[in-house]
Amino acid sequence: MLARAKPEFAIPEVCRNFVNGQWVISSVRLPVINPVDEQVLTEIAEADTGLVDEAVRAARLTFEQGVWSKLGLEDRQKVLFRIADLIDEHADELAWLESMNIGSPLSQCRGRHVPRAAYNFRFFAEYISQSRSDAYTQLENYLSVVTREPVGVAALIGPWNAPIALTSMKIAAALAFGNSCVVKPSEISPLTAVRMVELIRDSGVPDGVVNLVNGSGTVTGAALASHPDIDVLSFTGGTTTGRAIMSAAGKNLTPVTLELGGKSANIIFDDADFDRALDGALISIFSNNGQQCLAGSRILLQEGIAEKFMDAFIQRTRNLKIGDPLLPETEVGPLATKQHFERVHSFVDTLEADGCKLLVGGKRCSGFDKGFYYEPTAVLAPDNSAVVCQEEIFGPFAAFQLFKTPQEAWDIANDSKFGLLGYVWTSSYATAMAAHETVKSGVLCINSPIIRELRAPFGGYKESGVGRESGAACEAFYSEVKTTAFLTGDVPLRKLGLGEA
Ligand code: NDP
Repeated sequence: MLARAKPEFAIPEVCRNFVNGQWVISSVRLPVINPVDEQVLTEIAEADTGLVDEAVRAARLTFEQGVWSKLGLEDRQKVLFRIADLIDEHADELAWLESMNIGSPLSQCRGRHVPRAAYNFRFFAEYISQSRSDAYTQLENYLSVVTREPVGVAALIGPWNAPIALTSMKIAAALAFGNSCVVKPSEISPLTAVRMVELIRDSGVPDGVVNLVNGSGTVTGAALASHPDIDVLSFTGGTTTGRAIMSAAGKNLTPVTLELGGKSANIIFDDADFDRALDGALISIFSNNGQQCLAGSRILLQEGIAEKFMDAFIQRTRNLKIGDPLLPETEVGPLATKQHFERVHSFVDTLEADGCKLLVGGKRCSGFDKGFYYEPTAVLAPDNSAVVCQEEIFGPFAAFQLFKTPQEAWDIANDSKFGLLGYVWTSSYATAMAAHETVKSGVLCINSPIIRELRAPFGGYKESGVGRESGAACEAFYSEVKTTAFLTGDVPLRKLGLGEA
């Protein structure tokens, strides 16, 4: 066995709140648990309604003062690039904190999540230098100019499964378009958010522009979502929470984007490149310990390759290196929390009644005294009505189904309340085109696991979300559009009130 990754970095004794440039403590403490040894890793000082209000007020004040919102674009860009550089410089530390906190393999945090966070800031820094305004001259004697202004105060609520990659996207977009913000990470995973906010401060973002409130969803998150003085709210998390947030925000007519859950179909045709489809299926369901909204968790196999594919998949699943996420060879670490472990395992209880066959896994990993280690699992379902084919499990848990014709595959894929992603593996151009026209998902990957192109919209159909994230979608969300009409010619006006009394 290789050695644990060194060096180890400091974990704060308490994760505090960052409000108006000050680190603020509070008396209510919530433990943050290490998923490897189940011990308390640190605590968060929970922000109550009053502190959330202070954070929103700080954001509002800085916004109105214009310290960031009116900063010249090139100066704003420089700061965003500096944040990206600082994230790169601290990549080892950030990856280590993320891995310690949520149990994702360090190699994946270091290789994908942290570079993605830096890229988010670079992407939006570059995007704003290319954004354009419109002018309309078709109406004689008038020039109508359409410009964008920052929207104001953005509330940004992030999930625990890939905190730095996903929350940085929201902060980068909100800042790029000139907004102030209040960030609320999951109580489960505060560590990288706290460190990232320190780096943002060090990059020269003025005090009060980026505020951080830690705490539970029901206290801190709810106070933020229902705050009357936020202008937009961006949320990534579960569909049930999304509903609560949208209704709280709706009372104030606060616009929201919601990036929610998924139960994506990974459709593999007989004519697919077998090895590539196999690699793709394993990546799609077991990366990040299976805790990813974009998981290809329903694997639909055409009958000709089904048996061979399942055999190979099971073999490779048994070979996965499960262990301490800090070890370089680890491919699958523990689930993030005990509660989540129990939820994932609870789906095994549904198998018998639904006629599903357990192919591999389905229990706690042996060989670990401690930690939320769950065996990578695959089942074969008789049809798409099985609970494991309908509910998002959000763990290393794949459900196979068989199909004969492309139409059958599309029907199964679309028979879901979710519509986040679809994956299709085929060497037939016609089948790929048919998938493109038929699969109801916000993103579709042909012969590839997820590819996140930030210029292109990301988001879901149906219960997988509301709105999209991308350069243009974020520009539309994080800014207000203003049309100003200038009179350019001689237009006589009707003269009211000149008649006889
Ligand atoms: P949750 O919905 O449980 O939580 C998300 C965030 O919302 C957390 O910060 C949480 O705080 C907070 N929250 C919870 N309740 C409230 C409330 N009433 N008001 C305001 N905020 C609240 O999601 P998870 O963190 O468990 O993330 C997993 C889910 O996220 C999965 O369903 C997954 O599919 C989805 N997801 C979607 C992605 C996408 O892009 N579509 C990407 C990644 C994940 P706390 O945790 O402190 O309670």
